[in-house]
Amino acid sequence: MTTEVRGAIKGARGTTSGIRFDAVSVAYGPTTVLDSLDLTVEPGEVMALLGPSGSGKTTALRAVAGFVRPVSGRVFIGDRDVTDLPPYRRGIGMVVQQYALFPHLRVDANVAFGLKARKVPKAEIPGRVAEALEMTGMADYARRHPRELSGGQQQRVAIARALAVRPDVLLLDEPLSALDAQLRSGMLAELARLHRELPDVSILYVTHDQVEALTLADRIAVMDRARLRDCGTPQDLYRRPRTEFTASFVGNANLLPVTVDADGVALGGTELKVETAGAAPGSSATLCVRPHLVGLGDGPNALRGRIAEVQWRGSTHRLYVEVAGHRVKADVRELRETPPLGAEVTLHFAPEDAVLLTAGVTEGPGTSDGSGTSGGSEVTDG
Ligand code: ADP
Repeated sequence: MTTEVRGAIKGARGTTSGIRFDAVSVAYGPTTVLDSLDLTVEPGEVMALLGPSGSGKTTALRAVAGFVRPVSGRVFIGDRDVTDLPPYRRGIGMVVQQYALFPHLRVDANVAFGLKARKVPKAEIPGRVAEALEMTGMADYARRHPRELSGGQQQRVAIARALAVRPDVLLLDEPLSALDAQLRSGMLAELARLHRELPDVSILYVTHDQVEALTLADRIAVMDRARLRDCGTPQDLYRRPRTEFTASFVGNANLLPVTVDADGVALGGTELKVETAGAAPGSSATLCVRPHLVGLGDGPNALRGRIAEVQWRGSTHRLYVEVAGHRVKADVRELRETPPLGAEVTLHFAPEDAVLLTAGVTEGPGTSDGSGTSGGSEVTDG
């Protein structure tokens, strides 16, 4: 992209603006679907809203767009309180799952639509449309109708339409979920490129897909049942989760009930050395260990048990091992010989690879304010 184009898209006011939710609540009738959300998206940051279906992610995004009205709290874009502004005056671009292109309009007219609605001078519109189509690699398709495009191309047009208004903030609501797996991964790379080329545009990205969130986001806000449960960099949330919900929603986890003792914890009768960070001896806690960090064979923190199930997953084997009444998952490099069901095995993990989740920390947003780099953490399913 030329410097000129980059400069032009720098945001409607030539400034950088973040997004701030200040105790924002949204209710439908008696049901609160967003409960006092406090969250700041820094200028130029990609914040993923990650959580299960119905947790309030889209509602939060729509509160920024101006499509739902909070019952309390304020929404800021930059230093402007936009809570009472109509959507078209907020300086946002929005892309939704189903593209929402006008079928009877050609691609260029679809992209021009928002500009006309915003009363951009007529003479400026063709240049702005061309610029946005160039950014999304759709310049050669300007005269086609949406029905003459693939799903991935339609989504690029929807992104071009959002960028044409030179938004301060870009709101993306599950933008990849209508695409098949291969297209999705290509578009994910495209979105990462667009973000690099538009470093001043803040992005709020709603998804229930942890791979999308881990890949694209500078920080992830984890939502559950109308509330923000955690917020941090992908690496933080994956490596040092603070809650069981985050540990199990961001990546896959063994969550083992343990009792804290003087210099570690006990799982059943087995003593394990882990960092207890001042947890009170005798108290109950949950030990989180990622399955790919559990090894087969003797080592520090050995756990003896019996094989309950083995799954071959191509490059790895997933072992399910019964240890003191608990099922421990271990993802190990593909084994030459698969251990038979019922075989006695030893698993182990390094003390520094375990995180102790204490009962005191069950919910509430993190205090991490790092605007860390986006990261491609490895995630295993199931
Ligand atoms: P998510 O994006 O996390 O899947 P939503 O924000 O879309 O969740 O929805 C949160 C809750 O609000 C859900 O229980 C949903 O059914 C409810 N909800 C969303 N929109 C409306 C509406 N227009 N009227 C009533 N309830 C709604």
